[in-house]
Amino acid sequence: MSASSSSSAIPQQGFADRLTRWARSLSGKGEEEQPTPERRVRAGTAASREITRRRKLYDDIGDFLFAHDLDLTPVNFSVAFDYLTGANIGIEKAVKAVMMERGQVSNGWVETVIAEQRADEITPEALAAMLDRVEESLTLFTGLMHESRSSAKDYGAALQEQAKDLASGGDTETVLTRLVNMTRSMVEKTRQVETQLRDNQKQTQALKSSLESARKAAEHDFLTGLPNRRAFEGALREELSLAREQGEPLAIAFCDIDHFKTINDAHGHDTGDRVLKFVAGLLTRISNDRCHVARHGGEEFVMLFRGKTAAEACVLVDQMRQDLADRSLVNRANGEKMEQVTFSGGVADVLEYEHPRAALRAADRALYLAKEHGRNRVYLATDVD
Ligand code: GH3
Ligand code: MG
Ligand code: MG
Repeated sequence: MSASSSSSAIPQQGFADRLTRWARSLSGKGEEEQPTPERRVRAGTAASREITRRRKLYDDIGDFLFAHDLDLTPVNFSVAFDYLTGANIGIEKAVKAVMMERGQVSNGWVETVIAEQRADEITPEALAAMLDRVEESLTLFTGLMHESRSSAKDYGAALQEQAKDLASGGDTETVLTRLVNMTRSMVEKTRQVETQLRDNQKQTQALKSSLESARKAAEHDFLTGLPNRRAFEGALREELSLAREQGEPLAIAFCDIDHFKTINDAHGHDTGDRVLKFVAGLLTRISNDRCHVARHGGEEFVMLFRGKTAAEACVLVDQMRQDLADRSLVNRANGEKMEQVTFSGGVADVLEYEHPRAALRAADRALYLAKEHGRNRVYLATDVD
């Protein structure tokens, strides 16, 4: 079901107007700024197109929320926005899937999906806790440094005093005894500071490695060890600018395991997990500094090929598809031979689109058509657009 067909399911006359007024009141823009026909003429066609586009979006969001009986909450607004504009492909796909399955989106479902989407994000609380520990460690370190510096200063000043005494012909033996005692206490202080510094260093080391693993966890998928969608988006940004800079082609591919639900249902979730890891391992074989493979979510992988046209990438992905389809996998849990495991793929040329998001959507659409046309095949976006 497409966004527009779903949104026109229950047309709500007047809702857009109410929503527009509500959104305006939130953004601090008063009624007087409403685009009257005269203003539209003055502002020219570009502005009026923008107003029409915004009005249509408000309408669509309102219709979507009304059609699904969703509460007027920020989370529901953002899901409707992401779905209708395609701003977040993960949300868009999740909404499409649930609409195909149940025909309806519910408040509870939205909360679950948003929670899943945020599961791999570093929460502000976790980040704040880490920063607290860094701060604690730094304070301790600065304190130690300060203490150590003032001890050395005191020692220096005391030495000078004693040297003065010696020069003015004071009792040499007493001065020497004092010097020995002072030096002993300085040595002791230095030793204490050294021990504290070592402890501090250990804490800093532990902190460093926990920050490192937090960073890794935030960018890697726990099950397959592959980079996750967040990391992939970073790679896409980097590879896109490199490709543009060096005039190289850049292709993107989605691969989705066919009938994976059936594999889970027939063999259990653990076997499903092993199949996922196996496919991940197979796809990773061709990864290098110009080819990135990531788990996009569920049983779907995404690949990026710099220096390859979409057609070339399509050939590579198709070879991997064939490789997987030719294998006879055995269920390790019971030694039984499993049915053929296959995936379908969709490939698009990133530079052919104004925004990489559009290329992702094109690859996803090609994947969708590969599924529609029988699965276990890889389609090129240009073949189907
Ligand atoms: P299609 O060929 O159309 O892609 O069918 P499908 O069954 O692969 O797709 P569907 O979206 O209906 O089901 C995907 C299933 O993947 C459902 C979900 O339970 C399962 N899945 C998602 N993530 C994991 C995971 O980490 N481990 C396991 N074992 N299953 C997962
Ligand atoms: Mg699938
Ligand atoms: Mg899928």
